[in-house]
Amino acid sequence: MRALIGAMGLSVVLTISPVSAAVADDDYYSNGQNTPRPDVRPYNYNSTWQTAIDRAINNWNATYSPVRISKYNNAASSITAQSYSDSWYGLYTSCSPNNCMYISLNSRTISASASNFSNYVTSITIHEFGHSFKLAHRDGQDSIMNRSRNRNTMINPSSSDVVNVRNYYPGFPNE
Ligand SMILES: [Zn+2]
Repeated sequence: MRALIGAMGLSVVLTISPVSAAVADDDYYSNGQNTPRPDVRPYNYNSTWQTAIDRAINNWNATYSPVRISKYNNAASSITAQSYSDSWYGLYTSCSPNNCMYISLNSRTISASASNFSNYVTSITIHEFGHSFKLAHRDGQDSIMNRSRNRNTMINPSSSDVVNVRNYYPGFPNE
């Protein structure tokens, strides 16, 4: 019986090891977009939402990085703000094969939690774009991908977020 338990223990170790080895970087999210220069369909919301979402795009575009988000009428990618029954604030969904995206913003949960509504929307939108730029969650760190960050105040990617995005798109110039 002891030998059997030992063998089972060994098999568990062997099962886990290859999975860990395959993850080269814990900050890396493999379902991001193929490009850091996405086009998104123009959106039209009330000025509070519009300004906050536009600011998220502008703050990403202002980083020294390969990121350039543009609005384009016929873009497949979109940003949608509405009330969802889900518990999340924001959701990034990639369209196969990672060359378009849907970013969803949940007005219900944001309204319930935000003390600075505009900053909350900006922070969440930057976070969801972060996933599109291959950034995984980075809880406990100075990162827009930290799920415990203060969304009322953090409205920019951190310097390490920007460095990671540069590293994930080596074929695109930083500007
Ligand atoms: Zn996330």
